[in-house]
Amino acid sequence: MDTVSCPRCHQLIDSQAINCPYCRTTLKAYGHPGIPLYRATGDAYLCDTCTYHIDDTCNFPKRPYAKDCTLYQNSEEMKLELEKQRNANSFAVTVKNWIKRNQALMLLVGLLLVCLLIVLSTS
Ligand code: SF4
Ligand SMILES: [Zn+2]
Repeated sequence: MDTVSCPRCHQLIDSQAINCPYCRTTLKAYGHPGIPLYRATGDAYLCDTCTYHIDDTCNFPKRPYAKDCTLYQNSEEMKLELEKQRNANSFAVTVKNWIKRNQALMLLVGLLLVCLLIVLSTS
């Protein structure tokens, strides 16, 4: 079982727990382990760092003073994730372009390999 530390009392608890067994803080929304309920720590509001607040797509009534939210999406993490995707994409594009540019060369190498195979199999 995966353990996480409770955002309020910091005891180690099951990551699927709906309530913290120590301080009874609600950790999941609607009593469902698959729906995490994000909680603000300290005085900050969740919305301050939330992607949906920054891009102005959230229409939750709690915004911009949500202390807990099921839809919270950390904007920094989102940025990192996008960055990673972009890097992966640009690598794929580089490879594709290289193949396009060197198609003739690859064809030649392929033909040479076929010739080599024929020579080897007939000798
Ligand atoms: S999704 Fe939640 S945390 Fe994000 S802006 Fe809306 S209310 Fe705030
Ligand atoms: Zn707790």
